[in-house]
Amino acid sequence: MNMNKKLNRKIIAIVLASVFTLAIIFTAFGVSQILKRKKNVPQGLHAMAQNYGTIKLDCNYNENNHTLGVNQTTQYINRNRQTLYEVKFHLYANAFQEKAEYPAVAPSEIERAYPNGFNPGFAKVTTPHILLGGSDNTVITIPFKQGIKPGEKVNIDLEYTIHLANVKHRLGYTDNAVNLGNFYAIPIVYENGWQIYPYSYNGDPFYNELYNFDVTIDAPSGYYIAASGSKVAANHYQGEMLRDFAMVLSRDFKTLSRNVGNTTVTYYYLNDEIPDVSLYTACNALAYFSNTFIDYPYDNLAVVQTDFLQGGMEYGALVYIGLDITDQLQYQTVIVHEIAHQWWYGLVGNNQTKTAWIDEGLAEYSTAVFFETHPQYGKTLASIAADNQTSIRMFESIMDQYQVKYTREMYNDLIGYKMPTEYVINTYARGMLLFYAITEKIGYENLNATLAKFAAKNCFGFATKNDLIQTLEDNLGYDLVNFINNYLAGRQDTVL
Ligand SMILES: [Zn+2]
Repeated sequence: MNMNKKLNRKIIAIVLASVFTLAIIFTAFGVSQILKRKKNVPQGLHAMAQNYGTIKLDCNYNENNHTLGVNQTTQYINRNRQTLYEVKFHLYANAFQEKAEYPAVAPSEIERAYPNGFNPGFAKVTTPHILLGGSDNTVITIPFKQGIKPGEKVNIDLEYTIHLANVKHRLGYTDNAVNLGNFYAIPIVYENGWQIYPYSYNGDPFYNELYNFDVTIDAPSGYYIAASGSKVAANHYQGEMLRDFAMVLSRDFKTLSRNVGNTTVTYYYLNDEIPDVSLYTACNALAYFSNTFIDYPYDNLAVVQTDFLQGGMEYGALVYIGLDITDQLQYQTVIVHEIAHQWWYGLVGNNQTKTAWIDEGLAEYSTAVFFETHPQYGKTLASIAADNQTSIRMFESIMDQYQVKYTREMYNDLIGYKMPTEYVINTYARGMLLFYAITEKIGYENLNATLAKFAAKNCFGFATKNDLIQTLEDNLGYDLVNFINNYLAGRQDTVL
């Protein structure tokens, strides 16, 4: 996710925006990053995909009552050493219900999120013999009396109807578009027990394993559909080894596409005066991160402009870019940030509820090095670091002024942060600065080369703090355990 960092960046952005637009136009929309010879290639995605479960979703969108009927069949594989007697799924639609214990929208953002006043969303599950529970009924439990043995595969059928809220969020509808993010029943990771987490209006409360997807959507005629995965027939999409699957529907989408290597990047937009520039940024970001870290393995990437209150959002092979971002440089920054998530969250997964600083910190750092190496945008690694320092100072001085307590700790669970700004400062600004501090010692080229190894080692899996520290230490030759632990604990004057 990318939250708009307003603070004092507005003025800088306005000055730079004119310079930047001219510079980009003069490059004649050429993709300046040519894909280099393949390296660290995740070879044979299709062959590898046979080892993963498949989620089949047959969806039906009714635009009159804004409901989505879903028939879901999940091929679930028990990857644990013990027999499982139940399987659990998250069903996040219920986080949009009225008076939710863990609401999807922060109280301070309700006005901005709901264009026509608060409006609830929820799901009705019609499958018999299942249990709905957890906070706000966001957890489905399917009992298996006979047990699922290690390595055994079972098919689980679920049928439900989602009543969408009229909200500019991951899941909801507006006059412009229908956002279907985190809409289906998502298998919960089993790792020393079921990793159940409540929804949170801070950050991205997700922890997803990879699945293959086979999705059909029946929508009234006239709708354009942006989806994760490749279109295999009318209203039919497939994707292999994706962290999750999202769709956005709109009657008003215009599209622009171009190829980067074997990937087709498609920009779906509603209102963009310079769509060529936005597509150019997306293609350059995809090529740059592929060249720098590890190849992007999917055939498609959908960059989708839609109503979304938190800047942008990452999904498997699809990203949301907020329609209400008016500042051009900020808009291009969100495109780069969300595409960076295809590496940090997508290819290399992490527990986004417990270690948001990993995916957000790396996405922010990657965005900053993209700008450092693409001078036409007028931002550098150092200027972005300085902006983050300023944002932190301003946040803390405002909190001090109003005598509001705040934390400098970066390792809290999402719901451990009292307000979205406190989460953003600790996860995005401090996350980027943590990696920036390492570049000050060894240079960004060395850090990038090490992150490429980290990506290759953890591709398609999950990485923890220790995995990251281990790879950094092995390659950089510094004692980073103390430095990173001190940094995460809020002692950011710690010197490497
Ligand atoms: Zn993000």
